[in-house]
Amino acid sequence: MSRARLAVMASTLALLAACGQGDTKSDMPPLPASATAPVTYERDIHSWAQPQIARVRHVDLDLTADFATKTLSGTATLDVTGEPGATQVILDIKNLEIRSVADDKGNALQFAFGAEDPIKGQALTVTVPAFEPGKGQKIVVTYSTRPDAAALQWLTPAQTAGGQQPFLFSQGQAILTRTWVPTQDSPGIRQTYSAKITVPEALKAVMSAEMLTPDGERAADGMHAYRFRMTNPVPPYLIALAVGDLSFASVGEGVGVWTEPSRLEAARNEFSEMRQLVDAAEALYGPYRWGRYDLLILPPSFPFGGMENPRLTFATPTVVAGDKSLVSLVAHELAHSWSGNLVTNATWADIWLNEGTTTYFENRIMEAVYGRDRAMMLQVLGWNDLQASLAEMAPLDTRLHVDLDGRDPDDGLNDIPYEKGAAFLRTIERIVGRERFDAWLKGYFERNAFRPMTAGGFLIDIRANLVRDDSALERELQLDNWVYQPGLPSNAQAPVSTALTAVDTAADAFFADKGPASAIPWSGWSTQERQHFLAWRPEGAAATRPWLTGAQLADLEASLNLRAEGNAEVLFQWLQIAVAHRYQPAVPTLERFLTSQGRRKFVLPLYTSLWGQGDWGRPIATRVYATARPGYHPVTTGSVDDVVGVPSPVAG
Ligand SMILES: [Zn+2]
Repeated sequence: MSRARLAVMASTLALLAACGQGDTKSDMPPLPASATAPVTYERDIHSWAQPQIARVRHVDLDLTADFATKTLSGTATLDVTGEPGATQVILDIKNLEIRSVADDKGNALQFAFGAEDPIKGQALTVTVPAFEPGKGQKIVVTYSTRPDAAALQWLTPAQTAGGQQPFLFSQGQAILTRTWVPTQDSPGIRQTYSAKITVPEALKAVMSAEMLTPDGERAADGMHAYRFRMTNPVPPYLIALAVGDLSFASVGEGVGVWTEPSRLEAARNEFSEMRQLVDAAEALYGPYRWGRYDLLILPPSFPFGGMENPRLTFATPTVVAGDKSLVSLVAHELAHSWSGNLVTNATWADIWLNEGTTTYFENRIMEAVYGRDRAMMLQVLGWNDLQASLAEMAPLDTRLHVDLDGRDPDDGLNDIPYEKGAAFLRTIERIVGRERFDAWLKGYFERNAFRPMTAGGFLIDIRANLVRDDSALERELQLDNWVYQPGLPSNAQAPVSTALTAVDTAADAFFADKGPASAIPWSGWSTQERQHFLAWRPEGAAATRPWLTGAQLADLEASLNLRAEGNAEVLFQWLQIAVAHRYQPAVPTLERFLTSQGRRKFVLPLYTSLWGQGDWGRPIATRVYATARPGYHPVTTGSVDDVVGVPSPVAG
């Protein structure tokens, strides 16, 4: 997934504390896993499954989408293997309507629900005839989802770009797949899958799988069915579906874009260099193992930047900037085809294995395609975010291997796994040299392909294949410090970008020395330089007070033409400044931004800042949220509700 990082604000601290991220835990850091053999199964505290007794190998879905009732209903047929004599299969479900459970001959099987856990949902325990050696069984679960299934967002036509047809998309990570597929929902339990999805005739279904019927098949009652298959075993959070008025354009051999017809041309232009990204990734770390690589540009309510669903990355429309400036997001999701989708965190405590490795890999793709300068700018932006997070987070939460006991895995999605993880790999690269490092990382992907990975397994691999008993190197790398200790080890080094150093000079001249905005060389800057400029903040005690006058804000807004800014990253930085200064003229721009997209990375910090502005900001937040909330995804409203509260229904 792309970064869900929060911008730095005093009020964020309160929010994080409220979410449990700010709690300081007194537990001792866990000891490194013993260096014996790679772990093949790691107990996952976020799943009820007991795969060591019986585990799901394949999921076959036959589901019909009903937009009137906002439900998917039909069957999930599970291929299960078990230890000889075992008679129970435990699945994960949450908020599902289970109608019946049977074997593949139609004989009913007994099933029981476990206690409901607010984070994990329930165990669904199915009693089966005792497993015989070498023989699997099939379990057919007949069920439907509920309208408020957390993984599914049902959009009205008004919430789409085209405005004519409804839209549905799923988001499985981290533990939401269990709200639409009854299976063992743990990233360590890989499953192949197949599906038949029946939808209204005017709509098309796409999945994170090979599409077997591009034109659909006729079904009853004016419906169409689409068939899919994923022959590589994947963690269940990567089972993904979207249904809507979708069209496709190829942008090169084996790569293309899906989106609503009105957005197709813009998407085709924005991502015309996608083949180069795939070629660069393969040149770095070996063959792409998934067949096609396509991008699905979703309606504006998609809460994340991107989600690395195999073969079909789901992406926010805010990446279509018009100038290819935000293509690093595609590089990130593409890199997940190796780090995350091929070698997967066994549990969410090690999401740094997915996200840190991917952030490192993303930057290498950007360097290969767009050059060292752009890659270094991106590194510095990420490093600055990391410093801000390290300053405000509870120390124990700044360990790469994080303690998520009793917590939602989404609590661990912050700059630590992404940016500290990437800094860890960059440190190893710097110490051993790029050639040696690349050979090791490529081998790591090959050795561990289609397998779960733990922090302990990672350390075993790197010691066996890179360090190789070189005790001086072992000491210099500080591997255990990086993985199991808070903060940054002493061998971490800040990246340097000469381009951004020049931006710092311009920012000091404007923000600190109060020069005119007309002296800012804005038109010659890239998106990354513009972001960095607007992210300037006074240091020390001055950081809590406004740093610009009304006249300077007006000068900045007019000279940089910020009311007409179309780049979401740049606009976000400007609006943060505007809110911090209670700058009324920017409120219409702010309102337009908050009601036109629902990406949590942008939306949550802005509402949080508004709320922090008391009498001035709270009425604005409440008014805008009442309008915007119906267009947001539950992932976004779940976060913003905690800040603004749930708006009361608007009369009439
Ligand atoms: Zn990611």
